[in-house]
Amino acid sequence: MNIQQVKENLKKRGFLPYYFDSSKEAVEFVLELIPENESVGIGGSMTVTGLELDKKLQQKGVTVYSHSLVSPELKNKVYQLANSADWYLSSTNALTESGDFVNIDGSANRISALCFGVKKVIYVLGVNKITPDIESAISRVRNVAAPLNTRRLNKNTPCATSGECCYCDSPDCICNATLISHHPTRYQEKVYVVIINENLGY
Ligand code: SF4
Repeated sequence: MNIQQVKENLKKRGFLPYYFDSSKEAVEFVLELIPENESVGIGGSMTVTGLELDKKLQQKGVTVYSHSLVSPELKNKVYQLANSADWYLSSTNALTESGDFVNIDGSANRISALCFGVKKVIYVLGVNKITPDIESAISRVRNVAAPLNTRRLNKNTPCATSGECCYCDSPDCICNATLISHHPTRYQEKVYVVIINENLGY
């Protein structure tokens, strides 16, 4: 994988790519990008929470809407607030070398915000999320990310045991909707892509 070529491909698609050798530099960049008097929605992301961006943005004075920071009964309300914030901050389940973002959700709160409702979006991802093409990206989500997430969330799905996707119909399925983003949508003003030369999240 040639990271400069990935950046070029993202630029051609209309995204705003940035590449950092360390997560420390990337966190500083994101903290600079979001002004303190604005709001940011955050979807479920081990990368974003692992970098403590949610807490650091709150400390800066940014209004953060994240369901992981509130009690379960407030979750749906926070989903709505997150999806109409000034910014949306997320990782991605996968990014192809040619510049397609592949994300699969159980509730679709994250994938809906990644294409409509929020004008400025920031993807933060480690190089481990980059795959050669859309087919391998979907396979990565279903056979790497989803099994780890179903285990973490204690979901009763076949992949939680086997580690492989069988396209289940389980009530606990976390793969209910798929979004493949080829370009920023017409609704969006700016979509930043912060790539970090580390393995982060699932
Ligand atoms: S469809 Fe079901 S088995 Fe496949 S990854 Fe998703 S939750 Fe797991």
